[in-house]
Amino acid sequence: MSGLGISAPRLLLRKLHQVMAGHGDAEQRLNEIVRLIAGNMIAEVCSCYLRRAGDVLELYATEGLKKNSVHKTRLRFGEGLVGDIAAHARPLNLSDAQSHPQFAYRPETGEEEYHSLLGTPILRGGRLIGVLVVQNRTRRTYTEEEVEALQTVAMVVAELVSSEQMVSATEFSDTAGNATLPHHINGRILAEGLGAGTALLHEPRIEVVHAISNNRAKELARLNSAVNSLQSAVEKLLVATNTLFKDESKEIFEAYKMFAHDKGWLKKLQDAVNTGLTAEAAIKRVQDDTRARMKEITDPYLRERLSELDDLANRLYLHLDGRSQIDRRNLEKDTVVVARNMGAAELLDYDRRHLKAVVLVEGTRSSHVAIVARALGVPVVGQCADVLDAVEQGELILVDAEHGQVFLRPGEDVQQAFSRSLRQRAQRQAKYAALRDKPNISKDGVPLSLNVNAGLLIDIDHFPELGADGIGLFRTELQFMVRSQMPKIDEQTQLYSRVLDKMNGKPVIFRTLDIGGDKFLPYLKTKREENPALGWRAIRIGLDRPALLRSQLRALVQAAAGRELSLMFPMIAEVTEFLEAKAILNKEVERASQKKAGPPKKVNVGTMIEVPSIVWQLPHLLKEVDFISVGSNDLMQFFFAVDRGNPKISDRYDTLSPSLLMLLRNIADHCEQAGKPFSICGDIAGRPLEAMALLGLGYRNFSMSSETLGRVKEMALSTNIGKLENFVRGLCQSRDHSVRDQLRAFARDHSIII
Ligand code: PEP
Ligand code: MG
Repeated sequence: MSGLGISAPRLLLRKLHQVMAGHGDAEQRLNEIVRLIAGNMIAEVCSCYLRRAGDVLELYATEGLKKNSVHKTRLRFGEGLVGDIAAHARPLNLSDAQSHPQFAYRPETGEEEYHSLLGTPILRGGRLIGVLVVQNRTRRTYTEEEVEALQTVAMVVAELVSSEQMVSATEFSDTAGNATLPHHINGRILAEGLGAGTALLHEPRIEVVHAISNNRAKELARLNSAVNSLQSAVEKLLVATNTLFKDESKEIFEAYKMFAHDKGWLKKLQDAVNTGLTAEAAIKRVQDDTRARMKEITDPYLRERLSELDDLANRLYLHLDGRSQIDRRNLEKDTVVVARNMGAAELLDYDRRHLKAVVLVEGTRSSHVAIVARALGVPVVGQCADVLDAVEQGELILVDAEHGQVFLRPGEDVQQAFSRSLRQRAQRQAKYAALRDKPNISKDGVPLSLNVNAGLLIDIDHFPELGADGIGLFRTELQFMVRSQMPKIDEQTQLYSRVLDKMNGKPVIFRTLDIGGDKFLPYLKTKREENPALGWRAIRIGLDRPALLRSQLRALVQAAAGRELSLMFPMIAEVTEFLEAKAILNKEVERASQKKAGPPKKVNVGTMIEVPSIVWQLPHLLKEVDFISVGSNDLMQFFFAVDRGNPKISDRYDTLSPSLLMLLRNIADHCEQAGKPFSICGDIAGRPLEAMALLGLGYRNFSMSSETLGRVKEMALSTNIGKLENFVRGLCQSRDHSVRDQLRAFARDHSIII
């Protein structure tokens, strides 16, 4: 059986255009459309199913199946192949449909003689409104062109179904009623905080009012002028100085610029217009393709690239007919942005004063948007699977990114409770701000060092507001992660030097690249691993690829010429690894001494304690290092053999388990005996009760995320460490799962604010 020729879609679209403009009621025209499709695609069957209330698909028109099955054959979402296409909103192309496990036989249709099937969802404004199917007797695989042609035709059908209201819109609101009921979605916390505002759909939902063009030249001209306008807008974005975020956003817009000029993408758009589509429909067509590809791809780098292309399609749509881009900077009221996914650059488009939170269908804690949102203090809840279906633009959303919950159309009681939480949070923040200038000393006069973790320049911009002593962990990989290319040595040098300049003599500990595990670099290709957390990551990559480590160390050493440099290595499992890494550093310091700028005034080199094995080599290690810092996030995951990113088990072991406290105490004791400075920079340093226990174990130097500093400071200022030490040391001997309750009781009895 021959496939569909290149000129055929154009022909088909022209005929469809005549039908759409012709006489007859909507059902008659739909019958005519399925007849035309079957004829043009040389298919024996073409059927159109439309969505009815209750997620049911009803056969509305068919060419080839028994006519009396129309309006009788009904399938639920997920039922049969048609239901499967609807449930996943993606095409199916099967040469032997009947052997597919989802196949559901409907005797009234007489479809048993047809073997091959090609079906595609009919979408309107991002919602599924039906399914279009062609079938053939022979076992054949439909070509890619045929799949595309059917998808294009589905857009035309969508236009007919909606404009003629073939299924009344009230049917959905009346029976389902869901749209107006409060709805609550659980997701994952990607950036902590609380936010409330009206919903703004981030993707403009490309609305195709007319899919078929009657003037190809005019549509091409519209498309080309939109492309030109998009290209210059991206150019402007690149030049625009975003004082807050200059460096990070520049890199991201560079990638956009590359795509906006991508010949393959532009040609696809023009081809689609040449088949007879309007410019809007062409953009939608190409975007649907990108989305379909995204569904298939698991490689995080490629997914990130495709989602940039997806965004670019949205931007292009906004440039049609001289409409410029939505001015996201000009939000007028408190807004919660809802998106399938978002690039970091897009987040930066929004006006910070009114952007109160973000809700994503996808997203992980290590995605760019999450990293940047945390730096900006914008709460984000991700992995909210059905939020785009459930939300309507302009309605109220409450985002609780302290518990990973999103409330749509909340009732009065939920709104009141949320307002209370917001007020309490604001009061707490005001209280912490008032503590900012107080010295970091415990109630009984023990000096403490309270530092923050950072990784982007924007973190440093906020540093003076925090009242922290320094940066105890600068995660250098974040700078690498938000870029689309490996930063060159000069760029790295410039960056580190700006960090040191901005910190103006306050201490900063740089950690060398900690990639792998849940942090990936888009441009560093690595093989997929069975257990990435235990795999090729952090210092292991640095030592196996010394050029990478060397270039980073060179940049750090150059940046700190004439100043003090403190750096540490991640994931050191044995002393020899540290020595190997330190040898590379020494060479770079030596090299810098030969250069005009000279070496740093002083170099302090340390290591993170994240792998339990190194704890058993501490006496050796402590002879070699200038300091250590406990990375309790990884240390815990390896100590308990519990994946820190797996919500099913990540809370199984308590951070206040006696065995972990014993391990932390052991580390502290070794460091004290060796007279070496030690600190802790994992998440537990930022939790008041855990930090209190750490004070009891001898820890005096903490580094934590900036938003937790106030709470920890308040606890420390109210703690009498002398009394606490014996108590906590005693608890290490406990055989309980956790000593949390005992610590809480101690805090209560001794008026410690936790
Ligand atoms: C840690 O493992 O505790 C740590 C601070 O490093 P990261 O969270 O960046 O892995
Ligand atoms: Mg770590």
